[in-house]
Amino acid sequence: MSQLKIGWIGLGNMGIPMAKNLLKAGFELMVFNRSRSKENELVEAGASSAESPQQMLQACDVVITMLSDDAAVKEIFEGTNGLLSNSVSGKLLIDMNRVAPETSRYLSGRCSDHQMNFLEAPVSGSVKPAQDGQLIILAGGTVANYEKAIPIFNVLGKLSVHVGEAGVGSSAKLAINYLLGLNLQGLAETILFAEKNGVSKKDMLTIINEGACGNGITKIKSSSILNNDYPAAFALKHLVKDLQLAKDAGLDTPLITPLFNSYRQAQEEGLGEEDVMAIIKSLENKAG
Ligand code: NAP
Repeated sequence: MSQLKIGWIGLGNMGIPMAKNLLKAGFELMVFNRSRSKENELVEAGASSAESPQQMLQACDVVITMLSDDAAVKEIFEGTNGLLSNSVSGKLLIDMNRVAPETSRYLSGRCSDHQMNFLEAPVSGSVKPAQDGQLIILAGGTVANYEKAIPIFNVLGKLSVHVGEAGVGSSAKLAINYLLGLNLQGLAETILFAEKNGVSKKDMLTIINEGACGNGITKIKSSSILNNDYPAAFALKHLVKDLQLAKDAGLDTPLITPLFNSYRQAQEEGLGEEDVMAIIKSLENKAG
């Protein structure tokens, strides 16, 4: 049993399996979620429930946030009874969702003003790796804060990398999601070009996946393409937001603008709630 008492805020698709893994590993866990009913599953598994983020902070050594976006994080940190509504010096706050690098730098500064420690730790990997404790964790903050978090990261992920100060982890997250967008756009365009010239989707996917151009993501998305079914593992609307954040953070190389426009158009066509691989449906429609 670990000595650290952990608070967990945000029990969405990613938060629930991640928090469960900490319980399974023997950490004492307290949870809080805006929609309180989502806490039940964790409380039944042995967690306690906090009345507010602030009450959680008083009770725990470390508080982890896994929320949807920048606005949600600011609400939990700065809202009524939020994490910053009272100073509790020496606590470690770990923000694991994806936010803009400048939001991480801002929160790091605000925590410092309150004599609290801040670490950003966005993740690469989706719900299945979260369930399996196989995420890749991109940490930004001081080395001391990172080292304190390692026992937690060892449970949640297969790898954690300390990439630099606060903001750098968020930049790494935006960079890897840019590559994800490029990969899937390229896969979709390749499949449609081949099909237009007589190569079936099945044959083209076999050629890709058995050769050097195949990779983890082309293999994962192959069954969706063959079944023409795109339930969201990572919703397309989230990638549009990530590409916007990457542009805002200075990504201005040749492919970002057409890539962003392509995914944004797919979202405008109503594909935002589907998986990011649904980009192929948008391109297929245009090809007629
Ligand atoms: P999600 O299922 O949409 O859950 C979002 C969580 O944020 C919920 O607990 C929600 O509370 C809470 N929340 C939203 N707005 C809030 C507010 N204003 N105040 C308080 N709480 C608020 O999201 P997810 O899929 O778990 O993703 C979480 C983060 O991980 C995101 O930043 C995402 O980009 C990142 N991520 C996701 C994936 C993926 O495959 N899903 C992969 C890697 C990284 P309610 O329950 O009350 O709505």
